[in-house]
Amino acid sequence: MQIDDRITGTTRFVGLLGNPVEHSVSPQLHNTISSYLNVDFVYIPFKVEKEDLESAVKGLRALNVVGFNVTIPFKKDIIKYLDENTKQALLMGAVNTVKNIDGRLYGYNTDAEGFARSFREETGTGLKGKRIFIIGAGGAARAIAVKAAIDGADSIYIAARTKSKADDIAGILNDNFGCNSETYALADEQAADAFNECDVVINTTSAGMSPQQGVSPLDGTQCRFSSGQIVYDVIYNPPVTKFLNDAAMAGCKTVNGIGMLFYQGISAYEIWTGIKLSPEMLKELYQSFKGILKV
Ligand code: NAP
Repeated sequence: MQIDDRITGTTRFVGLLGNPVEHSVSPQLHNTISSYLNVDFVYIPFKVEKEDLESAVKGLRALNVVGFNVTIPFKKDIIKYLDENTKQALLMGAVNTVKNIDGRLYGYNTDAEGFARSFREETGTGLKGKRIFIIGAGGAARAIAVKAAIDGADSIYIAARTKSKADDIAGILNDNFGCNSETYALADEQAADAFNECDVVINTTSAGMSPQQGVSPLDGTQCRFSSGQIVYDVIYNPPVTKFLNDAAMAGCKTVNGIGMLFYQGISAYEIWTGIKLSPEMLKELYQSFKGILKV
C-alpha cells in the first residue's frame, strides 16, 4: 500500500470560515498551488454557525494557523475578532483574508484586489482616470468602489435599487478620497444620463446569477450600453449573464467574475506565503481553475 504523505507532522494549515462552504472551490485552488510549489500547507473549509464565529477564531489562533479566508456571511462580523485590519479593509467594511503573524491576526480584503487584477489582466487597462458606473450597493459594490477610488478613478457613480445604500458608499468615498461620486436610483432617467457618460460599467448585484438566469439589473431602467464601454459583471455563474450578453451585442468589451474569484485567492495566497506567482504559472492555473468551476 502506498503511504499518503501529503500531510505530515510539519504541515501547517490554512482555513476557510463561512456558511455554506460546500460549494467553495478555494480548497482546490489553494491546495493545487501548494502542491505545485511544494509548500507544506493544507487548506481546509469549515462551516461555522453565526454564534460560533468568535470561538472558531479563538480556535484557529490557538492552533497557530497560517491564516484563513472568510466568506459569506462573516466578512463584516469577522473584523471585530481580529487584532488589526488594513485601512483598506475597514473602508470596504469587509475582510476575506486573515494572516496570523506571531499570534496576532491581521485582516485584509482581497476581493477588490481580485477585481482590479482581473480587470487589468482582461482589459489591458486600469481604473485610473476612468468614469465608473457601479450597479448595486451591497458588499461587492462597496469594496469595488473603494478600490476604484484608491486606484484613482475620475468619477464613481453608484446606482442602486435602494438609493440610501448607494448614498452610504458615496459618503465613504467623499469623506476619504478626492474622486467625484454621485448616486442614483437605478430606474431614474438621471441614472441613464450618468450611465452614458461612463467608460466602465460594473454589475455588483446578484441579478442574473444562476438560477435567476435571463434577468439583468438593467431590466426596467433606461440605461443602454454603447460600444467602447468596458462592462464587468462580478457574477461568474453563468459565465455570460443577460447583462454581459446585452453589452456584447452593443459592441462593448465584456468581462465576467471568474477572474475576480481567481485573483482574490491568488492575492490571499501571496499574503500568507509572500510568494509571487509567475505570469506563466498564473496563466496555466487560471485555465485549470475555470475547469473546476464547471460553469
Ligand atoms: P449583497 O451585499 O447582498 O448586495 C447585493 C446588492 O444587489 C444589493 O445592492 C441589492 O439591492 C442588489 N440587487 C439584488 N438583486 C437586484 C436586482 N434584481 N436589481 C437591482 N439590484 C439588485 O451581496 P454582495 O456580497 O455584494 O454580492 C453581490 C454579487 O456579487 C453576488 O452575485 C456575489 O456572488 C457576487 N460576488 C462575486 C465575487 C467574485 O469573486 N466574482 C465576489 C464577491 C461577490 P437591495 O439592497 O435593494 O436589495
